[in-house]
Amino acid sequence: MPDSSDYVVVGSGLAGAATAWQLAARGHQVTILERNVPASHDGSSHGSARIFRYAYPDPFYTQAVLESKALWDGLALDTAAELITPAGAVDYGPERNPALLAGVLASAGIDHELLSAAEARTRWPQIAFDTEVLWHPGAGVIDAEAAVNAMVALAVGNGAEVLTGWSLSRTDRLDSGGQGRSGYRLTSATGDTVDAGNVVISAGGWLPELLGRLSLPSGFLAGLPEITVRQEQAFHFRYRDPVSAGQWPTFIHKAADIQAYGLPGGRDAGFAGQKVAEYNGGPLIPSAAEQTGIVDPANRERVVDYVRRYLPGLDTEPYAETTCLFTNTPNEDFLIDRVDNLTILSPCSGHGAKFAPLIGQWAADLATGSANFPQRFRSSTTAASSR
Ligand SMILES: Cc1cc2nc3c(=O)[nH]c(=O)nc-3n(C[C@H](O)[C@H](O)[C@H](O)COP(=O)(O)OP(=O)(O)OC[C@H]3O[C@@H](n4cnc5c(N)ncnc54)[C@H](O)[C@@H]3O)c2cc1C
Repeated sequence: MPDSSDYVVVGSGLAGAATAWQLAARGHQVTILERNVPASHDGSSHGSARIFRYAYPDPFYTQAVLESKALWDGLALDTAAELITPAGAVDYGPERNPALLAGVLASAGIDHELLSAAEARTRWPQIAFDTEVLWHPGAGVIDAEAAVNAMVALAVGNGAEVLTGWSLSRTDRLDSGGQGRSGYRLTSATGDTVDAGNVVISAGGWLPELLGRLSLPSGFLAGLPEITVRQEQAFHFRYRDPVSAGQWPTFIHKAADIQAYGLPGGRDAGFAGQKVAEYNGGPLIPSAAEQTGIVDPANRERVVDYVRRYLPGLDTEPYAETTCLFTNTPNEDFLIDRVDNLTILSPCSGHGAKFAPLIGQWAADLATGSANFPQRFRSSTTAASSR
């Protein structure tokens, strides 16, 4: 007899861990299937540094960060872990529109200041600001890996089972196989099986290659947005003045020729430098399975050139570098959709970490049929008939 579970969550990055936690905390029977280990080194949720920030041009996301923060605080309390280190955030550059972002923060009642470039340079001489600057002190740095482990621990504490080294190869509908049972049979790459009443697929950059093997109705598949995967690359640059280590904010800078972001690298960077990357600067790949983990020298050169021009407080040679996967939808909204007891999550587009606990709540709401779920993340047309 195969193992069985009411809810099977496939993938244990930030999205899967959060969903498993939320489902298990509501008393559901949950099994996590993970091809590697939680916060897998070749997924999107490894390492110690993701930006937590409130400033978005779309007020929907700013409100969502507020909701998410309440859940982060609860998670930190329940696990006695420091998951978000305060650092603040600066937004600037000719394409960033700091004034518009300030308006969104003002409407949401979030503490912020709009500074001239000269005022900002006085405060942070390590950065060569080129426009006015939005500063909001409530931002910080998420320890992604610690967050995954904390959420998995809470899921397990609420009775969830975790099977590591379990790579989903396909799902088959049990009721369409004439076996008189509803739900799915999940089969691993090595032929193991688990039966599930409900399935949540949170496979990050592996989603595109899995979609065709999930027994999804063709109309549902056709209605999904295009999902693309990029092998992003990030570089660590040493602080010229080690004393400035605690004075570096996170940043998003949209210059005319490059969109860059940076943040204190934390544990990954030996607490000695800033992690800097070009947003969507890595190559497109068909799926996570095709990633090489090799940094593109041209991208390294672009980021080094960026640091030379805009970050005088950093050494200009990176002392460490890494790759990571962005799984993008065309408009950078998340994909959280459901058909026939199967929920699909793709909450990345380079900005999902800060929402992780809320994504878990949304996904658990959707998977259990609650009406609270924001419909903007359901883009498939035929899904409407099965809601
Ligand atoms: C370089 C980089 C920087 C980022 N910066 C920020 C930031 O500053 N702020 C922010 O908010 N967000 C940021 N993000 C986005 C954030 O990290 C992602 O939204 C989040 O990590 C996505 O998590 P996930 O669970 O969807 O995917 P993943 O973490 O990739 O998890 C998917 C999991 O599924 C498993 N899996 C895949 N296929 C199978 C299978 N067939 N069977 C079983 N298991 C499977 C994988 O092993 C993996 O563990 C960044 C992302 C990257 C890559």
